[in-house]
Amino acid sequence: MKKDTRLIHAGRSKNYTGNVVNPPVVRASTIVFDTFAELKHATQQRGNRVPFYGRRGTETHFALQEAICELEGGSGCALYPCGAAAVSGALLAFLKSGDHLLMVDSAYEPTRALCDKLLAGLGIETTYYDPQIGAAVAGLIKPNTRVIFLESPGSLTFEMQDIPAITAVARQHNIVTILDNTWASPILCRPFELGVDVSVQSATKYIVGHSDVMLGTASANEQHWPQLREHSYLMGYCASADDAYTALRGLRTLSVRLKQHEQSALKVANWLAQRPEVASVLHPALPSHPGYSIFQRDFSGSNGLFSFVLKQGSQQQVEAFIEGMAHFKMGFSWGGYESLITATMKVQNLRTATTWPYSGPLIRLHIGLEDVEDLLADLEAAFSRFNQAG
Ligand SMILES: *Cc1c(COP(=O)(O)O)cnc(C)c1O
Repeated sequence: MKKDTRLIHAGRSKNYTGNVVNPPVVRASTIVFDTFAELKHATQQRGNRVPFYGRRGTETHFALQEAICELEGGSGCALYPCGAAAVSGALLAFLKSGDHLLMVDSAYEPTRALCDKLLAGLGIETTYYDPQIGAAVAGLIKPNTRVIFLESPGSLTFEMQDIPAITAVARQHNIVTILDNTWASPILCRPFELGVDVSVQSATKYIVGHSDVMLGTASANEQHWPQLREHSYLMGYCASADDAYTALRGLRTLSVRLKQHEQSALKVANWLAQRPEVASVLHPALPSHPGYSIFQRDFSGSNGLFSFVLKQGSQQQVEAFIEGMAHFKMGFSWGGYESLITATMKVQNLRTATTWPYSGPLIRLHIGLEDVEDLLADLEAAFSRFNQAG
């Protein structure tokens, strides 16, 4: 089955949908049983998508979990109230006091904050590593290193990681690898084929796709699923049936949406690369990107999210650039149908293991589903305001 066809079928087992196209929204706390035999069966099978108690999920959740597994290639999938909970849930499933974690230096900012604040307080030590380190990550491994965490590309600065090189080293040392796979969504990268043990998604982004639900997923391979599932259950992580339903609905159009996001984003990226104000466009699907060959090897496409760095620009100029925009709204998150823009004045403040090579401000764009000509006109006007404010 080809990828787009798999996306249409994923999770739509008759066990979950009955005779309608989509699985119904099954909201539940208590599941009731008529006989002891039924109760016993449900108790034994409660980890295997058999209804047992609401926190363990209903048919709606099972359909989404199964769909994510089919798309990403994992053995099991846990749901979380948001992507940040999936990141913390995956990390805490495999780390305990006294352990050492290798965290990519380009990680999503709240992931860094989790390591520096919460994990440090639990006695879990973090070493940040260069996203482009590849197999040399072996040199950072300590006897107590239990997890290597990856995010590729970095969702602000877009460095590509050599995932198979890092997972091969991790396997040799019995270290668990966790990948924040949100940028790829479940369809642009097959993390388990690259040797990853646990793949995390902020479903809030492209899976839901309409900026109206917070949801997270973590899937694991066969070896690591029992521990992830058990930990997730003990921590009481769960998501609402309504949100699971909305995510499933988003999933069906993921591929067509991504194709449009990708096409428009590449057009904008190439346009920006010609602008005299721009020092660099950070988009891994551009042949000029240092991670382009890895991108070509491991990913089947790109999306609407990328950044560019200005040669220079004051706070005032950046404000002039962003504040008058007609279509790009200023705000966090991404993956919805709308275009978004944010600015980071000093990327180096978010780095400890690497030196950020640019001095100008970084602007991150999410290219939405508007007509790309309108977006280009919006950016053209933004550069005029930027230059006038200089
Ligand atoms: C948004 C995001 C998260 C966190 O997801 P939420 O659903 O907002 O909690 C984690 N990782 C990456 C790469 C993200 O972009």
